[in-house]
Amino acid sequence: MGPGMQLRDPVEKKARRHPIITLDGPAGSGKSTTAREVARRLGFRHLDSGALYRALTFALLSAGIPEGEWPGLSAEILDRFSIRLRPVEGRFQVLLGDRVLEEELRSPEVTAGVSPLSALPAVRAWLLEAQRRAGEEGGLVADGRDMGTVVFPHAEVKVFLIADLRERARRRFLERENRNPSPEELVVEAGRIQERDARDSGRQLAPLKKADGALEVDTSDLSFEAQVSIIVNFVRNLDWGRHLP
Ligand code: C5P
Repeated sequence: MGPGMQLRDPVEKKARRHPIITLDGPAGSGKSTTAREVARRLGFRHLDSGALYRALTFALLSAGIPEGEWPGLSAEILDRFSIRLRPVEGRFQVLLGDRVLEEELRSPEVTAGVSPLSALPAVRAWLLEAQRRAGEEGGLVADGRDMGTVVFPHAEVKVFLIADLRERARRRFLERENRNPSPEELVVEAGRIQERDARDSGRQLAPLKKADGALEVDTSDLSFEAQVSIIVNFVRNLDWGRHLP
């Protein structure tokens, strides 16, 4: 799937009232928390695209469909799961049927299954439309792996967040366990992240990579406030950014 395909998509081409900002990067680079805060400060809505991939992984695991059968999933089968995005104040909730998914998306089982699932062409094609629809009105900060390269190739601002592996592993562990990891735990966490990065960057379709022209921000030694400010200031210094409320 390349930009050529996006040009045929009416949703991405449609004139937008407000711009789109994309944030891509590897696991633990701080994308989602940063994107949420950038959106809040600019009065935009945040889309966590990883939550969609996680929701589908959760749905498949809950339905007892083993990983070995995932490559055979078709759009018709995926449609049965009724996964959708619902706009709420400042963000999109992910729903499975009528159930809002939150904590269950972060379980170790879902985290382990999501990368293999997201490498499947049928899955990516199926989720593309929902993501583009979320961007139809603009005013969106979207985070993920392919937001600037595939989903919103015409986004007004593209950001690529990176951070060194140890720091990313520390943040992920802290987020999950509410404490800093021991040296041994750090090694295990780093191994998991490295494996997920390798899958996400190495896959054929929509691999994790920096979009052309993206602003690269290394968050290894930055405070949360600093990384948010860099992006917000960058936007506010653009012609259209000066006019934001
Ligand atoms: O961002 P998060 O860690 O929640 O993403 C979970 C997984 O979903 C990633 O490791 C990746 O495999 C997949 N993903 C993707 N494309 C996106 C967002 C997430 O392939 N735009």
